[in-house]
Amino acid sequence: MAIDDKVVKTLGELHVTDAAGVQALFAEVRVAMETESKDCERWRNQPPNALRNRWLARHNSILAQIDEHWRKTAPKELVPIVGREFNALKKEANDKLDVAIAEIKKAESPWARSGTGADRTQAPDLTLPGYCRSLGSIHPITRVQREMEDIFLGLGFAIETGPEVETVYYNFDALNIPESHPSRDDWDTLYVDAQTVLRTHTSPVQIRAMEKYGAPLYIVIPGKCYRNDKPDASHSPMFHQMEGLAVDVDITFADLKGTLDFFAKQFFGESVRLSFRPSFFPFTEPSGEVYVSCSICDGQGCSVCKQSGWIEVMGCGMVHPQVLRNGGIDPDRYAGWAFGLGIDRFAMIKYGIDDIQLFFQSDLRFLSQF
Ligand SMILES: [Zn+2]
Repeated sequence: MAIDDKVVKTLGELHVTDAAGVQALFAEVRVAMETESKDCERWRNQPPNALRNRWLARHNSILAQIDEHWRKTAPKELVPIVGREFNALKKEANDKLDVAIAEIKKAESPWARSGTGADRTQAPDLTLPGYCRSLGSIHPITRVQREMEDIFLGLGFAIETGPEVETVYYNFDALNIPESHPSRDDWDTLYVDAQTVLRTHTSPVQIRAMEKYGAPLYIVIPGKCYRNDKPDASHSPMFHQMEGLAVDVDITFADLKGTLDFFAKQFFGESVRLSFRPSFFPFTEPSGEVYVSCSICDGQGCSVCKQSGWIEVMGCGMVHPQVLRNGGIDPDRYAGWAFGLGIDRFAMIKYGIDDIQLFFQSDLRFLSQF
C-alpha cells in the first residue's frame, strides 16, 4: 500500500495496535520522504515548493493527514508514542525538505558548476552574475573575404562559386594549361583519380561561368583551393583564393589596372601604390604580377617586404583568346581580364600575421583577437 493510501486510514484500519507497530509505520513514512526528496525527475519541472507543500502544507499534506487520521484518533495507550513520532517526523520534514529542494534545483542549474563542494548544501546565490556563453566571432579569412566581396559588389560584380572537386578539363585543359605544364605534376596537384582533382585554383569557375552566363560577365570567385604543399609559415595544402573576371566588348588592360587600383586603395587604404610587372600564365596574354607598396615600411624596405618596399599580391592579365573560346565566347567580339589573389595572404598582410598556419589551428588565443 502506498504511503498516500495509508495516511487516509486510521491506525485501527491499518491494524497497528502497539508501540512497535507505530514506530514501524513512522519508519516507513520516513523512507518514503527520503526517497521522494531525492527524486529529481519528479520535482524538476514543479514549482519550487511543491515537495514541501506535499509533505507540510496545512491542509491535505502527508503530515496533515497523519495528524488527522493517526494522531487525533489514536487509542489512548498509543497517544504518547504517536505524538512523539509525529513531532519527530514534523521536525525532520522541516529540516530536510528545504535542503532537498535546493539540491534538486542546484543540480539542474548553472550554479551547480560554479559552486564549490562546501556551499552545495545552500540555496543558490541569486545575486551571482548569470552563466555567460561567449558568442564567437567571424574567422579572419571569412572577414577579409567578405570585405573583398563588398568592394567588388559595389563595382557591380556578382559572386560566383564552383566545385572544389574538379575535373582535369576545367582545372587545366579549358584554361589552356598544356599537358606538359609543371603544375599538373603530382607534386603540386592532389589527384582524386586520373580525370579528377582537388582544384588547384579558383580559375575553373571562369570557364563554368562563361558557359553558364555568356558575355558580358563581371564576377568574383572566392573559395578554397588545394595543392600538395608541405605546411609551413607561407604554405598550406588548403588555402583561399579570390578570382576576378570581366568579359565585355572594348575591355582593355587599362580597365584591369583601374579596377585593381580602386580595389587595393579600398582594401589597404588610399596611400597604397600598385606596381604591375610582366609575367606569364597560360590562361592570360599578356600576363602580369601585381605588387603593392609595403604598408609596414611605406616602401622604405623592411623584413616583411624583404627590403624591397614591395609585396607581390596577385597575378592578372587579359584572358587568353583560347580560354574565351573554350568558355563559348567569341574572342573576336569580346575581350576580358582576370586576376587571382590569395585571401590568406591578404589577411596576413592586412593584420601583420607572419604564419599562415595560425588561420587553421583553431587556437582561440589567436582567433579571439578578431
Ligand atoms: Zn616593408
